[in-house]
Amino acid sequence: MQMNEIECAGFIEESCDDGPGFRSVLFLQGCSKNCKDCHNSAIKNHGEGTVVELGTLIDYIDRNCGNKKITISGGEPFEQKESLLALVRMLKGMDYNICIYTGWDYENVPKEIWKYVDYVKTGGFVSSLHDENIQYVGSSNQHMYKYVNGRIEELDLTIE
Ligand code: SF4
Repeated sequence: MQMNEIECAGFIEESCDDGPGFRSVLFLQGCSKNCKDCHNSAIKNHGEGTVVELGTLIDYIDRNCGNKKITISGGEPFEQKESLLALVRMLKGMDYNICIYTGWDYENVPKEIWKYVDYVKTGGFVSSLHDENIQYVGSSNQHMYKYVNGRIEELDLTIE
């Protein structure tokens, strides 16, 4: 696969569960973390998705994401790091509000991503830590961070 391509698993136009506000969600194919409780196990294998050229993908997103708010989930987005960086750089240049859903912990999130994204959700789903009193994530080991005015802040996800 080339750096100007990315392997995708799907796209939904509107969700209210995948980060703040109504957002489109792009699912990237493949995750090697193999969490016991994976919520997206059907798209875990690399090589079983659809490889799309980034320009074609951007055109598709722009036609189907009405409010320029997008979440990139998976699978594990950072397992396609170079292509992901190119994608978010282009989307940020078009004034998109971008959220990444990763199963990686905060310490492992590539620092260069913060230049181009507004939110990052970290951590894989753990069913024994499932908590219905928090929003946007499924279990209490997962966290969401916001990049604002050059600073990274953790969001309080408690449902009021
Ligand atoms: S990190 Fe997320 S997508 Fe990857 S195996 Fe774990 S729950 Fe599934």
